[in-house]
Amino acid sequence: MHRIFISDLHLDEQLPGVTRAFFRFLTEEAADCDELYILGDLFNYWISDRHNTPYQQEVAARLAQVKAVKYFLPGNRDFLIGKSYCRRCGMTLLKDPSVIEKNVSEPMLLCHGDSLCTLDHGYQKFRKFRSNPFYLFIFKCLPMSVKNRFANQVRTNAANEKKIKSFREMDIVDQDFMKLMDHHKVKICIHGHTHKPQVHRYEQEQLTRIVLGDWNEHGFDYLDEQDGRLELIHRPLC
Ligand code: MN
Repeated sequence: MHRIFISDLHLDEQLPGVTRAFFRFLTEEAADCDELYILGDLFNYWISDRHNTPYQQEVAARLAQVKAVKYFLPGNRDFLIGKSYCRRCGMTLLKDPSVIEKNVSEPMLLCHGDSLCTLDHGYQKFRKFRSNPFYLFIFKCLPMSVKNRFANQVRTNAANEKKIKSFREMDIVDQDFMKLMDHHKVKICIHGHTHKPQVHRYEQEQLTRIVLGDWNEHGFDYLDEQDGRLELIHRPLC
């Protein structure tokens, strides 16, 4: 079994370099894998499955061409991606968190990572709000112009907050990570969101936390898993 995990591509029409690298990645690195997992923030922002731009349709078409079984777990920027867009991409929508239990030597917990940044109180408040099915329903009923304005506001706020928030506030809280692992009875976790690609080993608890990197002008990272062997690989963008 050969699996590939990626996250935090933040695809955007304004970033043609990353988009090109992603399309090439799908036909090269991801061409022969059995399963491809996208662990959130595939897009820089997402408003609705119902109004796809030609760019979003192109991404769906490229993904649909990949032979592998594909899974998508939403991030904090594209949590509004639903079953309908996933269907167009040929991806199965996963809940955050999800556990891979079949055909693995050790079960693996997948999440985007934002739920574990618990020191960021402002964001956790927003996360609670947007996870509420009632507010989500109301948002989906709004006209596109209002949704666009809302999305712009959220992006500006996020960019401004990033400048003020401390390194610690933006990172995973180990205690909450361990609680989650204990609750699901797993030893390996794969997530993105923090943009700090690294394999963290917790010797005492015998836990492994693998952080995927983001895609930017310097390159991208992906996690390659073949028959239980895990490798974090970095590639330049060109
Ligand atoms: Mn994120």
